[in-house]
Amino acid sequence: ITADYRARDAAHHLHPFSEMRALNAEGSRVVVRGEGSWIWDSDGRRALDGMSGLWCVNIGHGRREIAAAVTRQMAELSYTNTFFKSTHPPAIALAEKIATLTQPHLSHVFFTGSGSEANDTVVRMVRHYWAERGKPAKQVIISRRNAYHGSTMAGASLGGMKPMHAQGGLPIPGIVHRAQPYWFGEGGEMSPEEFGIAAARDIEAAIEEIGEDNIAAFIAEPIQGAGGVIIPPETYWPEIARILAGREILTVADEVICGFGRTGRWFGSDFFGIRPDLMSIAKGLSSGYLPIGGVVVSSAVAEVLSANEFNHGFTYSAHPVCCAAALENLRILEEERLVDRVAEEIGPYLQRGWRALADHPLVGEARMVGLIGALELVPDKPSRSVAFPDTGKVGTLARDLSIANGLVMRAVRDSLIIAPPFTLSFEEADFLLAAARKTLDDTLDAARRLG
Ligand code: PLP
Repeated sequence: ITADYRARDAAHHLHPFSEMRALNAEGSRVVVRGEGSWIWDSDGRRALDGMSGLWCVNIGHGRREIAAAVTRQMAELSYTNTFFKSTHPPAIALAEKIATLTQPHLSHVFFTGSGSEANDTVVRMVRHYWAERGKPAKQVIISRRNAYHGSTMAGASLGGMKPMHAQGGLPIPGIVHRAQPYWFGEGGEMSPEEFGIAAARDIEAAIEEIGEDNIAAFIAEPIQGAGGVIIPPETYWPEIARILAGREILTVADEVICGFGRTGRWFGSDFFGIRPDLMSIAKGLSSGYLPIGGVVVSSAVAEVLSANEFNHGFTYSAHPVCCAAALENLRILEEERLVDRVAEEIGPYLQRGWRALADHPLVGEARMVGLIGALELVPDKPSRSVAFPDTGKVGTLARDLSIANGLVMRAVRDSLIIAPPFTLSFEEADFLLAAARKTLDDTLDAARRLG
């Protein structure tokens, strides 16, 4: 059956972010079932889903409560638009719920179908906001190198991934990329604290070069996810706050990964003490059960946007069934105290074991916050900045060996990433750590064999 699936997949399905010819030659893993922290493939092998799908299945797979909530909503009202003076109970309840979970000054939500659409909305929204305030020249958005903000034209433009810009003529005008707070890779001789300040001051330098009168917003992920789980030094966010304080520049936190508990706080902004004017959300909003995202805005921004029509929206903005899935997901997160569990129980437990992997000869750094972490693989441990000659090869090798050991991890360059479900049990955490260690041993063996 697996061979049949693979042949049909190869014949008709183009996968995102994949070299299809190589993938088809090797054959995809066909995932057929998920339950709790585990997924099963078509050969009956199970693996612990250390990535919660794509950083989204935070409440674990296969929750019947979500299936029931979705079924109820489909039977009641499967669709209505929110364009023409209409609204509906799930949208009302979800916007209200999000407003209670976010910082008090954040009051309104514009719904989208995904994180990319949320960030496209951010671009249009912040430019429109300044135009409405009589400052149409404020157009530039400052982002960071190696950021990931999605795959649509504006999302990929906001992102700082060069290979994405190279395809399709990006970035769109008015988007500038500056330093990222990636101490392990770029900190050189500086201490993490010094480097955190320096990376923030590069944003300040950009503001001075471009001129505040031309700048609409600064956007950043509290922790860069797809860039390699880059946890900024402690000095970074306070210095950014100092730089933006008193300046007419909107702060946008891309909470698509960090939002809804990943750091052990409801939002990454809460964890780092960021006070955003806008937040992009998706993924953990519904734990990936159905696609839904949004942009949360402050009451001050909402007031400006409310004066005139904002010519923007999606057929599936506030899709009733997706809203119902998100509401049930938030109910589960609260009722099972899963965010507290990340902060106080399973998070600290997994972090201790994860950091202990730093004693392995391949590991240059083992970092984790809440339930999001990375292992930096290095060829020569004492010299932190020396990378493998063929970037990504060892990381990909380790990722594939990890699957063979029953653990899904993701490779970013030569680092390994995990972001497991918040429902991960202590036994599953032990399994994850043992599989990760075995993967490191296997990778070292294989790398030695390959020279
Ligand atoms: N922003 C961040 C920080 C992300 O990690 C992602 C996806 O991984 C996105 C935006 C894009 O979200 P989506 O894939 O739902 O469009």
